[in-house]
Parts: sequence; C-alpha cells; structure tokens
Amino acid sequence: MNGVGFPAVNRLEIMERHWYNHNRDPYKNKNLFEDQLRRVSHIDEHVLFKAVELLAGEDVFPKIKKVLYHSMVLSPKTEVGTVDCNKCGSNGLIIGVVFIKDNINMDVVSYDHVPRPDGNYTTRIVGRCDCENGRAYELVNGNVMGKIVQPDQFLVNAAAKNGWDATFEANVAAQHFRDKADGIDRKGLSDGPLAQLINKLMGEASE
Ligand SMILES: [Zn+2]
Repeated sequence: MNGVGFPAVNRLEIMERHWYNHNRDPYKNKNLFEDQLRRVSHIDEHVLFKAVELLAGEDVFPKIKKVLYHSMVLSPKTEVGTVDCNKCGSNGLIIGVVFIKDNINMDVVSYDHVPRPDGNYTTRIVGRCDCENGRAYELVNGNVMGKIVQPDQFLVNAAAKNGWDATFEANVAAQHFRDKADGIDRKGLSDGPLAQLINKLMGEASE
C-alpha cells in the first residue's frame, strides 16, 4: 500500500480501504458501512485518509469512534474559537439559565420568568453548538456536550438586540434573575445602561 502522499480518493474509497485493511467486506455489512460513511461525512478527506492509514496496523477492527478520534487529533480545524459565533460565543458550547433549589434544576426559558428568592440562578451547559467550534466536542459521547442544541430563543433575541452572543446573554440573564430575586431593583443589564453604553461605544467605533 502506498503510504506516501495522498492519492485522489474520496471518503467512500477511503472507508472501503479501511474495511479491507482489516479483512472486512463493507458490502457484507452494508448497514454498518453506510452508517460509518455518514459519521465520517464531515471529515476532510486528507485527514480521514491519514487516520485510516494510522489504524491500518491495528489487530482488531477499529471502532468508528477510533477513526473519528484520530481524525479529530489529525484535524487542524477542531480547535474551539476558530469561527465567530453569536450562539456559543466561539467556545463551542451552548449555555442555558437554570434555577436551582435543593439540587433540582429548572430551566429558565423566558425573561418573563418570575424570580424566586428561595433558590439560586446560574448557568449550565446544555449541549454543543452546531458551528465549527462545537465540533471540538463531537466525540464526547454519553455526555451532554456531545449533543447539538440551539440556545434558548429568549437568549438569542436579547443577545441580538444587545450586540453580543447568546452565551454572554445567559450570564447576563442569570445575574438579572439573581438581582431580582434578591430584591435588587436595578434594571436588567440587557435593557439597561450598560447595554446602551456598549452599543453607543460600538456605534462610535464603527463610524
Ligand atoms: Zn457556535
């Protein structure tokens, strides 16, 4: 086998090679093969080829997770913070607001939520973003981070209005509900003077 350079092959051929490397006939287990093809469909062909080459020497037929893992390691594009994103703030994770009382979490899904003083408001990771940054977490199986989710709409709406991302808005919202629950009656940051000041400065900076 030619291990030098990159021959002109597509993902289908690379995955066929992967199976044949381990004496498996992809067309005798077509469902599994097709499932694997789907799971590598986003991987750059150069990267996939290298991953399959690396695994060619393994005695046991490597699970697809291993192919994905090697691809992630070999891929230059799975770092977080590679693209700007108004949903995850470029950290790849989607954040929600929760009310916690007696170790029970309740999701807060609206600014109309009536703040309660008998617990605490904080943020939590609800999944990973569908953007490039979120791909860094795609191999985190059996964990909430492995799941692609969208941020809550009230956070998206407020974030768009304020000119920042939904992750930052989740932190602003949690603070807002904490303040209200504590009887601190300053206007929520999202509508208040800070947002106005930031918008003003951003407007001036772009002029
Ligand atoms: Zn994102």
